[in-house]
Amino acid sequence: MTLPVTKDEGTAPRDWPMLIDGRHVEAKEGGWLDVVDPGTGKAFARVPDARSADVDHAVAVARSAFDEGSWAGLPAEERARLLWRIADLIEGAGEELAALESRNQGAPVMAARGGQVNVAAKTFRYYAGAVQRIGGKATDLNSYGLRFHAYTRREPIGVAALIVPWNAPLSLASWKLAPALAAGCTVVLKPADETPLSALRLAEICQEAGVPDGVVNVVTGIGRETGAALAAHPDVDKISFTGSTEVGRAIVHAAAGNLKKVSLELGGKSPVVVLDDANLTEAIPGAADAIFRNSGQVCTAGSRLLVHEGLYDQMVDGLKKAAESLRLGYGTDPSSQLGPLISERHRERVAGYVRSGIEQGAEVVTGGEPLPGDGFFFPPTVVARATPEMRLVREEIFGPVVAVLPFTDEDEAVRLANDTTYGLAGSVWSRDVSRAHRVAARLRAGRVGINVHPIPDVAMPTGGYKQSGWGRELGEEGLDAFLETKSVLTRL
Ligand code: NAD
Repeated sequence: MTLPVTKDEGTAPRDWPMLIDGRHVEAKEGGWLDVVDPGTGKAFARVPDARSADVDHAVAVARSAFDEGSWAGLPAEERARLLWRIADLIEGAGEELAALESRNQGAPVMAARGGQVNVAAKTFRYYAGAVQRIGGKATDLNSYGLRFHAYTRREPIGVAALIVPWNAPLSLASWKLAPALAAGCTVVLKPADETPLSALRLAEICQEAGVPDGVVNVVTGIGRETGAALAAHPDVDKISFTGSTEVGRAIVHAAAGNLKKVSLELGGKSPVVVLDDANLTEAIPGAADAIFRNSGQVCTAGSRLLVHEGLYDQMVDGLKKAAESLRLGYGTDPSSQLGPLISERHRERVAGYVRSGIEQGAEVVTGGEPLPGDGFFFPPTVVARATPEMRLVREEIFGPVVAVLPFTDEDEAVRLANDTTYGLAGSVWSRDVSRAHRVAARLRAGRVGINVHPIPDVAMPTGGYKQSGWGRELGEEGLDAFLETKSVLTRL
């Protein structure tokens, strides 16, 4: 399929059905939801508005596929081969997927290619390699005067509900789908309301690769309806959720009914700590990238910039120049470096945080107001004279807005960095290696960079301290999240 990649392509919105049990299906009640191009503000596709009856159907299909053992029962080598094939097909469809993701999520096509498509392919390859290493440990026991041979088995948890957000739809879906499939689970994937298309295409790719029908199912719809029905469903054994801390809390309540296993990758308010001996020629572009990448719609975004008082003015000035040099534009424009925000509602929310900062005495050094014209564009924004109690310093904005705060010494820097209910990521900038490691160890966060704001990699676990999450995704831990451990013993 060739996708329209220009914004003025002008064709009527295309309908994208869901994929359940290997079939393209519409919602049972027949409703559809518009999918909007955030670069133009216009609908360009529609997806089914699934309700609880559709969720029941998808879960029943995933349940019977799991219970029949058509997936978990495949030889590990065969499952690995299929995951590898999915990666090949993702790469083969790379241009199409990047264009689709760019149009639906807003990121420039090149960024979608590197940050979404390539990451998704790499994730499937990593977990293809992991399938054949799933195994237990053996030991001999001496208990109650008897001798036993004992071993552990790693078994799939069962039916997994995968619920993902809109900021990085394809890669975040892959971070869940690849380990879930590697473990032998069957899944119902629920993409975000705003960005359902790449998940639907990914499910088709799984089918093309030869994954049996019913193993990968996708339901589209509104989070509080479709997502909530999935999270509460008694036949779902596991929820792997990425999204806001607020919805994460709702997921925990919904999961309590049948005590589902739950993993949560939630929000953040990550600090970038620039110590007095930092190299500013690295720290300034590093801090700019930490907050402005993907227009700040990144869970680990460095939204609190903590700078030694002696470097404060230089840092603010450098960041202002970096912000003003970034080119915003439509995804298919090769000169675009940043795309729009995901929706008008989200843009208004981001602007509201800037206004709240001004009301509380902060100074907007650059940006701060929505841009006129089509699409939901918002400029990179630097806010100086920010103080720890301000709303824009305490709450996750999820947009291209950085608050800059001064500190006087290392202890104050660490105290400010940890003065948050979140604990997802952080970075430390210093020329002194020992000092940087010392500060990195004191940050209460799941991912920390030294002289770099931490990027994710499939080989490294990621996840949150405090209210940024439960459990870890990626790496070996990402696979463990979809496995149970059984102990087996026999008398000798
Ligand atoms: P969100 O919490 O609003 O929605 C996430 C997903 O949950 C969507 O698919 C949505 O449809 C669904 N949902 C909404 N209400 C639900 C409910 N009551 N029950 C079940 N599902 C429901 O988040 P968002 O606005 O899509 O994404 C932004 C958030 O995601 C930010 O807070 C960001 O930090 C977080 N995020 C975290 C990570 C991470 O790895 N920690 C990565 C990316 C994004």
